[in-house]
Amino acid sequence: MAYKDPLTEAKNRHALEIFFEEFNSSKDNNAKTTQLLILDVDYFKKINDQFGHEVGDLILVEFSSLLRKHVGKDNAYRIGGEEFLVTLQNTSPLDACEFAENLRESIEKHEFKVADNTITLTVSIGISELKRGMEFNAFLRNADQNLYLAKNQGRNIVRHDGGPCPEMS
Ligand code: GH3
Ligand code: MG
Ligand code: MG
Repeated sequence: MAYKDPLTEAKNRHALEIFFEEFNSSKDNNAKTTQLLILDVDYFKKINDQFGHEVGDLILVEFSSLLRKHVGKDNAYRIGGEEFLVTLQNTSPLDACEFAENLRESIEKHEFKVADNTITLTVSIGISELKRGMEFNAFLRNADQNLYLAKNQGRNIVRHDGGPCPEMS
């Protein structure tokens, strides 16, 4: 339980720190890399304002469940209020883009049915490659930067270290 967020049942920040430390100390030089997706719900404050904080909480619960369905329960973390992180091991940057783009689209299409309301939402996603030797907070800051670029470019989009993800057909 110490590694789980009690509201959403996603893994928590402490669990992420442990993942991070294990990654840093492992000698395994995978041919493929580890990519991290940071997802932040767009305009979540408006959802709370319109439907109330309790409905907001229930949406986060359903959001987390949807996320775990897509990425597996071991790879989904809640790192802030409406901010989640996904670990993709043995994944190339391009594959991470494609995965994130599909995830973004699935979330956009999902109808959250909460307390007699049908609510839709979008997320912005920043992708960054996990590199060994970084300090935990520095790494989270770095990963956050792509998320903020996605927010500044209009939201409901995916950005990675190299810029916008290539268009998916
Ligand atoms: P954007 O990310 O698109 O810039 O806008 P936003 O409205 O999502 O961002 P902002 O950071 O301004 O607000 C986040 C909101 O998320 C405000 C806060 O009340 C809400 N929030 C954070 N944690 C929780 C929670 O556990 N439950 C509920 N119901 N709301 C939460
Ligand atoms: Mg946020
Ligand atoms: Mg937000």
